[in-house]
Amino acid sequence: MEIESQPTTQSPWMQFLRFVRERCSETAYENWFAPIREVEFDHTGITLEVPNVFVKEYLLTNYASDLKSFLPTKSDGSLAIEFSIAPQKRSWNQQKPAQDEPKRDEGNNKEVRLNSNYRFSTFIEGASNQFVKSAAVGVASRPGQSYNPLFIHGGVGLGKTHILHSIGHHVQENHRSLRVQCITTEAFINDLVEHLRNKSIEKMKRFYRSQVDVLLVDDIQFLQNRLNFEEEFCNTFETLINQNKQIVVTSDKPPAQLKLSERMIARMEWGLVAHMGMPDLETRVAILMNKAEMKGLKIPSQVAFFIAEHIQNNVRQLEGAVNRLSAHCRLLELNITEELVEETLKEMLQKCPSERISVEQILKSVATVFQVRISDLRGNVRTKNVALPRQVAMYLAKEMINESLIMLAGHFGKTHSTILHACKNIEKKVQTDEMLRRQIGIIRRNIGSYTI
Ligand code: ADP
Ligand code: MG
Repeated sequence: MEIESQPTTQSPWMQFLRFVRERCSETAYENWFAPIREVEFDHTGITLEVPNVFVKEYLLTNYASDLKSFLPTKSDGSLAIEFSIAPQKRSWNQQKPAQDEPKRDEGNNKEVRLNSNYRFSTFIEGASNQFVKSAAVGVASRPGQSYNPLFIHGGVGLGKTHILHSIGHHVQENHRSLRVQCITTEAFINDLVEHLRNKSIEKMKRFYRSQVDVLLVDDIQFLQNRLNFEEEFCNTFETLINQNKQIVVTSDKPPAQLKLSERMIARMEWGLVAHMGMPDLETRVAILMNKAEMKGLKIPSQVAFFIAEHIQNNVRQLEGAVNRLSAHCRLLELNITEELVEETLKEMLQKCPSERISVEQILKSVATVFQVRISDLRGNVRTKNVALPRQVAMYLAKEMINESLIMLAGHFGKTHSTILHACKNIEKKVQTDEMLRRQIGIIRRNIGSYTI
């Protein structure tokens, strides 16, 4: 037997380790190779115990050809390696209660305090965020054992931070011995800079290596174009993931669209990548009602629908609308009506980017409410039942369409002074004419439902 005849020689696996150790960084070695255990070896093959599937993938992706020079191969030339996953050292539930844990060292002081309102219980579910929510609940219930990392991406103000903090709360409440670290990427970078300046980087590394069980990283997109920090982040990431510590990352883009190294992107894609979309109308209404209720504000449902129809791209804006209404109503002791909402949220609703209104839509909406023909609105008939609606259309066009007067006049086939005159006239009339004010309110509200 070959091995017995050369008892002093290192095993092929040890030889391989020596080979890679000379070729990779100390951190990479500690992260990827040191945790692997050789379980069994004979001429037919080798069995390696790895802490998780990532280590196996890393080894086979990056070192397949080197492994073949050291380890046994099968007749078809493929590697004769069996992998087994090491059992978890302690199950989460059996860990010591938090008070027995050693005091955390001060390797990191940029920790984000979890927002007490951002909980699963206050997160409203809808088709657009159900997937993310259930993945987050899964991760929070069994940290390090379901999807790792969990990568959540989506536009601004859609609830990513809310979900991230919810995971943090859930873990703190249900796995009391687990140490949760929630950081923004900016804070991580600042912390790193500070530790580098104070020459205490080892302390920071030690902190992440031994004092964190669940790492929540908000807004990873800020790592883009920060090459010096990317590597350190990646090392920290690998250290944790190989100890089966849970990582959750949020981003405004999916991994592949981030301007980060391939290595980093690959790591982000290892676990589960989940997209968070804009909630549909019903969910937006539910969120709005919920936020209002939390503020002790009662919003009639048709008003909630009205707001939710006009604010479509950002839940944070919906919340802003509730805050503004609440302040306004409290101050003036008013009840919430659609007119009040229109008045209070005027700029907000207009700023909504989804509202790109055309003259055609305005004409359709005006024609419906005043029961006239669009061709009459465009024409020159001066009878009162046509002239007034025509002026209303001009007034709304000036208010809702961001174009010069000359351009707008062109759409109506009139001069710009006709438009100006119409606007002045309607502005004056609505001061006293309640009926007209209501009609204009309805027209405004309906415009979105007319497509061009
Ligand atoms: P992001 O991090 O994606 O930019 P945030 O998590 O900061 O967004 O969310 C913005 C605001 O909207 C927060 O106040 C959050 O509570 C709220 N929000 C977003 N989505 C929901 C939801 N589905 N249910 C309840 N509140 C939500
Ligand atoms: Mg956020």
